[in-house]
Formats: sequence, C-alpha cells, structure tokens
Amino acid sequence: SGEAIADLVASRVLDVPDFPKAGIVFKDLMPVFADGPTFRSAMDAIVEHHGRGSFDVVAGIEARGFVIAAAVAYAAGVGVVPVRKAGKLPRKVLSATYALEYGEATLELHADAFTADQRVLVVDDVLATGGTAAATLGLIEQAGGTVTGFSVLLELEFLGARAKLAPREVHALLAVA
Ligand code: AMP
Repeated sequence: SGEAIADLVASRVLDVPDFPKAGIVFKDLMPVFADGPTFRSAMDAIVEHHGRGSFDVVAGIEARGFVIAAAVAYAAGVGVVPVRKAGKLPRKVLSATYALEYGEATLELHADAFTADQRVLVVDDVLATGGTAAATLGLIEQAGGTVTGFSVLLELEFLGARAKLAPREVHALLAVA
C-alpha cells in the first residue's frame, strides 16, 4: 500500500544537517537505493501509481534521478532519457537556467530526445522548491514531449513545489510537512 511504502522510505532516509551548506537539511536517500527489497518496492510503487502503459519514456534528473529512472523504465519496459547538468551532453541541446536557493543552475536535454508527443514520466529523489522539476518540464515540452507526471521518493511539502507543476500529476512515495 501507499502507506507501507511511505513507512519504508521513512525508515531509510537519513537527515544530514548543514549539507551542502549551513541551514539546509540534506535528505540522503541512498539507503533506499542500497537495500534490495526496499529499492524494488519503491520502483514498483512508482510504476503502479502511474500505471504500466501510461508513459512511453522516463526522464531522470542528474544524478540521483538517473538511478530511479533506469529502474522504473526497466520495470515498465520503456526507455530512459537523461536530463543533465550543463556541458555534459555531446550534441545539440536545449538549456534551462533557473534559480536555486543560492545562485542558479542550468539543465540540458538533447533537442531530439523525444519523438512527437511521447508521454514522459519525470523522476528524481527529492522534490524541494520544484525549480528543478519545473525547468525539466519546460525542457521536455520544448523538445516536443508531453509530461504526464512526476514521481519522487521524498517531497518537502512545505516548499510548495506542486503549485509550480500543476495541473500535472505529482506523486511522492513520502511527503514530509
Ligand atoms: P528543487 O529544485 O529545490 O526542487 O531541488 C531539487 C533538486 O535538488 C533535486 O535534484 C534534489 O536531489 C536536490 N535537493 C534539493 N533539496 C534537497 C534536500 N534538502 N535534500 C536532498 N536533496 C535536495
């Protein structure tokens, strides 16, 4: 059940205070990846939530999103597209620069990553302000893909990311207030 998965994720998240900078509590979800049964349950729950056949490809956000994207795509029998940090992709890219809590970041996507109207599920480990997910949404739409939804292991609800992604489906295995 959704509640059982939430409990499982909650039992495997490590809070790291003041990383990468003072005042940030980093949510380390590596223990979800490291435990076989937990990882499989979490990845299966993502596929089941959206429904097998409801998306054609999974976009993973560098770098922890890659781990999730590959597993979800494999379980669903679809492919993976990487959304990367600036300067990593070798061919023609679309770029989106967005604000972080301090400074800014740039994400890139190959311009030809999607065929017309491919339905794309976007995955990452943590949904915080939603800036990263919103930039990813913009890139995918610019590339001709249709974002059907988002899945994350953990959502920091109090930061209000959902409003930036509405009306698209936002699914979190665990939401913390
Ligand atoms: P945001 O754009 O604010 O939603 O931040 C999301 C991105 O930054 C994701 O790729 C997360 O992996 C990472 N991130 C942001 N805040 C945290 C946090 N408190 N703990 C772990 N990762 C975070």
